[in-house]
Amino acid sequence: MPSIDRRRFLRDAAATTAVVSAGGLAATSATPAQAAPTAAAPGPTARRKGAVSFRWWGTAGWRVDIGDRAVLVDPYLSRIDTGLFTGAFQTATPLTVRTDVIDGRVDRATTVLVTHTHWDHFMDVPYIAERTGARVFGTLTAYHLGLAYGLPPTQLSAVKGGEVLDFGDHSIEVVGSLHSRNASYSVAFPGVRVNQPPRPATIADLPEGDTLGYLLRVDGGPSVYFTGASDVAERNLTGLSPDVAMVAMQSATTTGDYLPRLLAGLDYPKVVVPVHYDNFETALENPPSVAETDRTRLNEMVAAIRRISPRSRVLVPEYEQAYHF
Ligand SMILES: [Zn+2]
Repeated sequence: MPSIDRRRFLRDAAATTAVVSAGGLAATSATPAQAAPTAAAPGPTARRKGAVSFRWWGTAGWRVDIGDRAVLVDPYLSRIDTGLFTGAFQTATPLTVRTDVIDGRVDRATTVLVTHTHWDHFMDVPYIAERTGARVFGTLTAYHLGLAYGLPPTQLSAVKGGEVLDFGDHSIEVVGSLHSRNASYSVAFPGVRVNQPPRPATIADLPEGDTLGYLLRVDGGPSVYFTGASDVAERNLTGLSPDVAMVAMQSATTTGDYLPRLLAGLDYPKVVVPVHYDNFETALENPPSVAETDRTRLNEMVAAIRRISPRSRVLVPEYEQAYHF
């Protein structure tokens, strides 16, 4: 009963007990004016259909346009070469924000959601926040790193999981999650920042800093769950039941039952969108460049989703195409 006064409804219903029936209740106990909100209640897609678009920016990055507002998730457009995909990973790679790539794509942003603070999720965020004035949501580590880049504390919102943030025509629920493990059961650049560090200079200066997921619910539109890394604390997913899930691909198999636990925890979403499968050290051009081993992993992931959740549609996204759910 979303929009009528529940107590008044019950009181009126009580006054007309003699004629109450499932069909007659509204008609007999409410005046036309009272009944109107019920009649006018929007259907699931009535208000926002076509107005919400989702564009993948590679890695775990998204631009979501909701009316005249833009929500960004892990926007990483610089895609600098660290040697990660050529077998010569350099942990001392300097952080280089490519404004030439970013500026044309980020004309505006109201909200930036950060799943974790590794460079391929966070490196471009301070520049984007400064350019657009967007509010940045992330862990306490993201907060302290934002300060280190000179962002004002008033533009940074530290969250930990469990928060439900109301933006009027959409809401964002923060979900405590976990980072992927590599083949040796560890996490790259582990660690948190509990106070403001010096300004980061290399990719190693951006620690994982704990990992979050985000559920975006749009009024009269879809609910979409975003992940940034391939592990799951499935007990935190209870009741979220998103329509769509953006699911990071695993690059190691050291996390047991990742997809079965994630998809069950999310109640088998109608649409599952694999992300973080691309070589994010190449230009943002379709078709996405995918390392050979990752192509195999992606194919296995798609097959596994179909097996685990046969009713889900699997959508392997391309860069910057507008998807509507
Ligand atoms: Zn990461």
